[in-house]
Amino acid sequence: MKKYTAIVLAAGAGKRMNTKVHKQYLEVAGKPVLYYTLKAFEESAVSDIVLVTGAGEEDYCQKQIIKKYGFEKVKAIVTGGKERYHSVYQGLLAAEGADYVLIHDGARPLVDSAIIQRSMDAVLKYQACVVGMPVKDTIKIVNEEQFAKETPDRNKLWQVQTPQTFSYILVKEAYQKMLEQEDAAITDDAMVVERMTSVPVKLIEGSYRNIKITTPEDLLVAEAYLLGRDKNI
Ligand code: C5P
Repeated sequence: MKKYTAIVLAAGAGKRMNTKVHKQYLEVAGKPVLYYTLKAFEESAVSDIVLVTGAGEEDYCQKQIIKKYGFEKVKAIVTGGKERYHSVYQGLLAAEGADYVLIHDGARPLVDSAIIQRSMDAVLKYQACVVGMPVKDTIKIVNEEQFAKETPDRNKLWQVQTPQTFSYILVKEAYQKMLEQEDAAITDDAMVVERMTSVPVKLIEGSYRNIKITTPEDLLVAEAYLLGRDKNI
């Protein structure tokens, strides 16, 4: 049996949310965003969960989320870093012993068991896979003055989500290599594997509902989806 560890990232400051409370702890439909995210992994086939939180938030997570809601798969709570990729690396260190890791944004509470299972199945075949969906809008590349410079072919564009799932050794070595070079322009884990290894990253189906809570209006959408889920919408 292969060991799958989920690394759930909750160490971001959420500056674009304009609240004092970090976005992963804001309540949606009566419970913190992070509750829904952890619940999805708790109920999935992953063996365990590493939770990465901000400095000083470990106790809150332990008492107000993990203990309160009875999550049993969280085997470690570690402190994240300045950028997302620093937090991921701390999570990777704590996931030692895993065969595969599913790296997931704590701010994506609408991840579900089907997405997690597809990721777990695909990584066995590809070693590196990320969930995403074809973009719906036309995307423009702009210049510094915000004039349209290029319009890439929409049929080739996907919006990428998490979980991003990898062979543990592959992604850990890729991160170590990247950190030696101090490359700061890293916005997802697939980029690290694309740049630092020769293993191609497979895109698999996520869901248009698997949104990341970033700005206040995202909370309304997440709430509508979460309430709708009970009614099978
Ligand atoms: O900031 P962004 O929306 O890209 O964050 C995505 C996820 O990464 C969030 O769940 C956030 O908590 C996490 N993160 C982190 N450490 C950071 C920055 C972001 O764990 N330094």
